Amino acid sequence: MVSIIDGNAVAATIREDLKDKINILKDSGVTPGLATVLMSEDPASRTYVSMKQRDCEELGMNAVDIVIDPTSPPEELYSTLDTLNSNSDIHGYLVQMPIPSHIPVQELLFRIDPIKDVDGFHPENVGLLVSGNPRYKPCTPHGIQKLLESIDVETSGKDIVVVGRSNIVGKPLANLLLQKSPNGNATVTVCHSRTNNLPEKTREADILIAAVGIPEFIDGSMLSKNVVVIDVGVNRVEDDSDKGYRLVGDVEFDSASEKAKAITPVPGGVGPMTRAMLMYNTVQAASLQSNIPI
Ligand code: NDP
Repeated sequence: MVSIIDGNAVAATIREDLKDKINILKDSGVTPGLATVLMSEDPASRTYVSMKQRDCEELGMNAVDIVIDPTSPPEELYSTLDTLNSNSDIHGYLVQMPIPSHIPVQELLFRIDPIKDVDGFHPENVGLLVSGNPRYKPCTPHGIQKLLESIDVETSGKDIVVVGRSNIVGKPLANLLLQKSPNGNATVTVCHSRTNNLPEKTREADILIAAVGIPEFIDGSMLSKNVVVIDVGVNRVEDDSDKGYRLVGDVEFDSASEKAKAITPVPGGVGPMTRAMLMYNTVQAASLQSNIPI
């Protein structure tokens, strides 16, 4: 019988643990502050930003919501980032992806003060991660490690197949799982759109992580028996519900469940963990910037 990994429950535990750390900071006069910068009219991005704002408020943290017209020139975004870099009440901030195509992503990332880069995407933070000394672990990969830990799945020595090599999920996740550290020490295979014989690779996995962005791309025939499946995908598929769509993952849940010993649902799996780890990084950023150990 497959077990369903409850991301909402694990995320709630992480938020609960954070409350003590936030109280330590507040007792010393520091309230962790997060700013979100939205430069998109995509409704899903708007929803993600609102949820991050709400998470901050529920934890008693400061939240600043900045919206920039998507047609604005890059300089307007850069000047907002400069202001956030010098605002000592804001300990962390993020620019919600995707951003308009006229904004060069690399230049944007270099503009973020690495100590406030709670997404962990600045090249300095990427370098620290790859060299085995992460400052801020990127939220989705870190959340996945915590999910595996929550169900006592040991990664050490396991064959883990990550499908997807993006800079925000696949690559940092592969790096984390490879580290000589707890929740690491795995043998990691990273697959992508040029991978030959993908099913052959995925069937080798003790733990399969899908971050592809294609609805129900991985099905049960691509999995071996007793695999642990982590589905990162969040895809809107049109249907005739009131909302006009439903969310599905990158894994075909029913057929995968017949093979897996544990699987994350969509929604309610990785998504809540990404949000919880953003709060975790923001609290860590406040601690680092105020020199208050937590
Ligand atoms: P990207 O589009 O940046 O990357 C997708 C990856 O999938 C690429 O590496 C691509 O390969 C690979 N891919 C595409 N087609 C195939 C194929 N046919 N076979 C094998 N690999 C393929 O997506 P993200 O990493 O940003 O996101 C992936 C999914 O995760 C999305 O659904 C996104 O919405 C979701 N997501 C969810 C989060 C959460 O908190 N739950 C957080 C972040 C993302 P190539 O590099 O060769 O193009």
